[in-house]
Amino acid sequence: MSLDLAAIYRDLHANPELSFQEHRTAGIVADTLTGLGFDVITGLGVTGVAGVLANGDGPTVLLRADMDALPVLEDTGLPYASSVRGTDPDGNDVPVMHACGHDVHVTCLLGAAERMADERGAWSGTLVVVFQPAEELGGGAESVIAAGLYDRVPKPEIVLGQHVAPLPAGFAGLHPGVAMAAADSLTVRVHGVGGHGSRPEAGVDPVLLAAAITVRLQGVVAREVAPTDAAVVTVGQLHAGTKHNIIPSEAMLGINVRSFDDGVRTTVLTAIERIAKGEAAASGAPREPDFDYIDRFPATVNDPDASERTAAALRGALGQGRVFDPGVVSGSEDVGVFATAAGVPLVYWFLGGFDPSLFDPAVLAAGGMPQDLPSNHSPKFAPVIDPTLSTGVTALVAAAREWLGAPQA
Ligand code: ZN
Ligand code: ZN
Repeated sequence: MSLDLAAIYRDLHANPELSFQEHRTAGIVADTLTGLGFDVITGLGVTGVAGVLANGDGPTVLLRADMDALPVLEDTGLPYASSVRGTDPDGNDVPVMHACGHDVHVTCLLGAAERMADERGAWSGTLVVVFQPAEELGGGAESVIAAGLYDRVPKPEIVLGQHVAPLPAGFAGLHPGVAMAAADSLTVRVHGVGGHGSRPEAGVDPVLLAAAITVRLQGVVAREVAPTDAAVVTVGQLHAGTKHNIIPSEAMLGINVRSFDDGVRTTVLTAIERIAKGEAAASGAPREPDFDYIDRFPATVNDPDASERTAAALRGALGQGRVFDPGVVSGSEDVGVFATAAGVPLVYWFLGGFDPSLFDPAVLAAGGMPQDLPSNHSPKFAPVIDPTLSTGVTALVAAAREWLGAPQA
């Protein structure tokens, strides 16, 4: 069989599914892999799919894609734009769009699976492909590992993957070392004593308490993180109360943290808890705040030696000048969970997805990203089909072949 990747992509794009609801996508993946001769495991961490192609002695390589879409109302104007709606984890009716390009990842990995199956005379070893749910929530990779992935497929020597980005199609960006930030989202609920707005002396005001925490948190990065390290603490939600003249009994803060180093990450999260508890005590709160970690992404760390070897393979396949270093990105990913769980190196690169004529070569040469293109998660995020898909397939195949064995005599 020969896969029509453009048709698969347009179909996936028009039929996006929210995190942990990727049933249709997983079905397409499983059917396609079965048709290609892979041994297929489904239902990993709800909807995850793994395929194994055993092809003689040699190393095992894992290629990973993510399948979920986002609650975004598509505004690309594409003929295959999504008009799908879904239900989010809170039960809200929301629009759904592949605004992060995971449909590109699924399509490219299916294309790579086909190429590897067709060309099995050219390599030896075992290819494992994993299509995970719920990258956007941060729990998808972990759920696949928790479902016993490595008890059910051979443990790989390396984990490889790619993410489509606002870079020129035909190009790949690979940064050795820490490539993407760790991200933590937490809800802090502070408790006061509610009462009448005219009698503050009879209550403990959680609004003032939440405001004091918000202000004091601005000192974490400024005063507790070394100037040579980086972190971000953002209070993105602050909710309390129902009426002008009622002192509420509690308030909530929604906080997001980005960091690039485990030590800094611990410092910042510890400081947030310390400050919230300290301010609660200073306010005379009846009890300590509650901390609820919503999603947690580890930093994405590309093994330096493995990155160099993989980048050379990508240059060989895409062209010498077509692989560059985009620097560290403040976005986050859970792909590293697969490598950490296996105790093996990770190499994760960015795949260009936009019309190359939109890019100023001088800006790119300086390692800059254009500021005016719709980024991932934008309602206007619209990768071009050609040559994004073919480049993504070529990159995955080249990287996998680099780490698999030579054909057996
Ligand atoms: Zn995303
Ligand atoms: Zn993504």
